[in-house]
Amino acid sequence: MESDKINVCSPATGDTIAVLPVATAEELVRAVAKAREAQGLWKETSFSERSKTLYGFRDLLIDHQEKIAGILASETGKPMAEAYGIELFYVCDAIGFWAKSGAAYLKPEKIRPHLLKTKKVVSLYNPIGVVGIISPWNFPLVLTIGEAIPALMAGNAVIIKPSELTPLCALFGAELAQQAGFPESLVQVLVGAGNIGELLVEHVDMISFTGSAETGKKVMRRAAERLIPVTLELGGKDPMIVLKDADLERAANACVWGALMNSGQVCTSIERVYVEEPVYQDFVDKILARVQALRQGASEEEVELGSMTSAEQLRKVESQVDDAVKRGARVLCGGRRNPKLTGLYYEPTVLADVNHEMEIIKEETFGPIIPIMKVKDWEEAVRLANDSRYGLDSSVFTRDTGRGRRIAEKLQTGSVCVNDSLVNFVITDAPMGGVKESGLGRRHGAEGIRKYCRQKTIVVDRLGLKSEFNWFPVTRRKMEFIRRGLRFFYRSGWKNKFSPPRRTDG
Ligand code: NAD
Repeated sequence: MESDKINVCSPATGDTIAVLPVATAEELVRAVAKAREAQGLWKETSFSERSKTLYGFRDLLIDHQEKIAGILASETGKPMAEAYGIELFYVCDAIGFWAKSGAAYLKPEKIRPHLLKTKKVVSLYNPIGVVGIISPWNFPLVLTIGEAIPALMAGNAVIIKPSELTPLCALFGAELAQQAGFPESLVQVLVGAGNIGELLVEHVDMISFTGSAETGKKVMRRAAERLIPVTLELGGKDPMIVLKDADLERAANACVWGALMNSGQVCTSIERVYVEEPVYQDFVDKILARVQALRQGASEEEVELGSMTSAEQLRKVESQVDDAVKRGARVLCGGRRNPKLTGLYYEPTVLADVNHEMEIIKEETFGPIIPIMKVKDWEEAVRLANDSRYGLDSSVFTRDTGRGRRIAEKLQTGSVCVNDSLVNFVITDAPMGGVKESGLGRRHGAEGIRKYCRQKTIVVDRLGLKSEFNWFPVTRRKMEFIRRGLRFFYRSGWKNKFSPPRRTDG
């Protein structure tokens, strides 16, 4: 039986930090009805009014940044520095971005028809209505409130279903949204597990889902029953390629940060590294030195790594590392829970002698692990990088950026960084999303806001004739005219356009 309460625990200490009632089916239906009412008011506001409210909301987020960072740290175990530097920074920047550029992305588009010049055509971006946002636990602010910003700017109401592990930040965000002056019930949060997510799909007008590929497929199946749009931002197994001419210092620093930030619980984190043979040992030594210098501990301390967030995820990481070791991988450092800390702390780990038979290379890891493989050349690296069911992000390191760009084109991922890692997520002007089982649809850029709209085309006749040529009645003369017209306009070769029509009807 589903429980009617959720215990939110600190993964760093195991202490209960909140007990929340789970939303009921009736409450969900009521929430959607209230959201529809609020959206009716909101969709009538101008873009500048929406921007103004968003800026007011941002001011409140900044005024409450210590509290928000504290909530984030306590429900996820991440260091406070990351709560400020990643989550709050992203959301504050994203608010400015959408508030400034939303109107330009959504302004009515005049279309000049190639054929019917007598028609005036315009295409509009209208809000969809009530958008359901279903989120995971790794970035409880970015993937809830952050994802809501473009939906709101486009004129929608949002109902957020945060992860059952980390609902507190979204709840506080919605409270601040209310204070910022959005219409009442325009931004709501429903607390619950997967069953509340399932129910949300039954009632809203669109689902924006971020989470695992397995759940994403379930969401899409349900959404298909109602034929509502879905976007799916799913998992990744992101490869990094280090070529022999790379700046190894930069590559090693980017790798350690890109693989271990947020304890590796990032959809776009580096999860496997392919290094060209001549620089393999040098690169491994650099990684090892850096990883061994990292500090792990409580969120408020000066540490690079906090605890993991989900006990289930930690068990998955342990089982993947065990599987790799059984199949011949060598643990160069870490490879176990941190014995000095209680709570869900797994030591940052470097693995060598890994191969594509191992789960650690095939499955998403979502933990602080860097598996490194030696490759003969770039072609082998690209072949191995593409040998995955996922295709979210990737990176290539080389001093020859032209070559890096050419290799980037061969990688089967939604985005690629050359001489960088993870940075594309904060370039909100550029589309970001996955191929293969990493998802459908894009966040950021034009698509990141237009996905929250229904496009409507309006065609206006300019001439006002009593009748059009192709309307009734049908006559033989008209038909002959069309036959000749087809030959004149569409038959290639000037000579053929004027030759008498060949009869094909016997
Ligand atoms: P998850 O798929 O288990 O859960 C995600 C959300 O879906 C949660 O809120 C959960 O309660 C809800 N849910 C569960 N079952 C559901 C159902 N049947 N119908 C509707 N909703 C349901 O994922 P998680 O473990 O919370 O998060 C980790 C995953 O998220 C990883 O795979 C990670 O790569 C992915 N992720 C992707 C991105 C991206 O942008 N591509 C970003 C962050 C995380």
